[in-house]
Amino acid sequence: MAEKLRVATASLAGCFGCHMSILDIDERILQLVDVVEFDRTPITDIKVIGDCDLGIIEGGVANAENVEVLREFRRHCRILVAMGACAVNGGIPAMRNQFALQDCLEEAYVHGVGVHNPGIPNDSEIPLLLNKVHPIHEVVKVDYFLPGCPPSADTIWTFLTELLSGTPIAFPYSQIHYD
Ligand code: SF4
Repeated sequence: MAEKLRVATASLAGCFGCHMSILDIDERILQLVDVVEFDRTPITDIKVIGDCDLGIIEGGVANAENVEVLREFRRHCRILVAMGACAVNGGIPAMRNQFALQDCLEEAYVHGVGVHNPGIPNDSEIPLLLNKVHPIHEVVKVDYFLPGCPPSADTIWTFLTELLSGTPIAFPYSQIHYD
């Protein structure tokens, strides 16, 4: 039996909606596990990445831990994919980029409606926020971009099966229009 491809996934500054979309391939996941083996991913809950054929990143880069995880994925993955609008262009989290970071923190933790015991968290365990949220290609080289918020399960399925079979990746129009 041919060796399985190793696949890792991670969510940086995202909402896990893209990972939900992976799971939305439903029973096709049984076909997938015939040809891939999952390494570090929220699906296996493995926390440390090994050498992989494919790394799939959800979410943009918003804090120091995101930078570290992303660089580690780039080091270990032969092919790296930006999955979803947040990874591709920053998405919803990048909406804070038009404001100063201090203003965002004060709005969230001091002046926000319904905030009790106001105070900006200050604990060394909390990853430091970056001034701006970045799409992942601003930090590492990215091989493929999979747009959508989230990309549909069918789009992810087309991408994975064509990538794994070595055929050029081509999506039917219905999988890449968003109106
Ligand atoms: S692209 Fe959409 S679904 Fe995916 S992490 Fe961002 S907000 Fe969530």
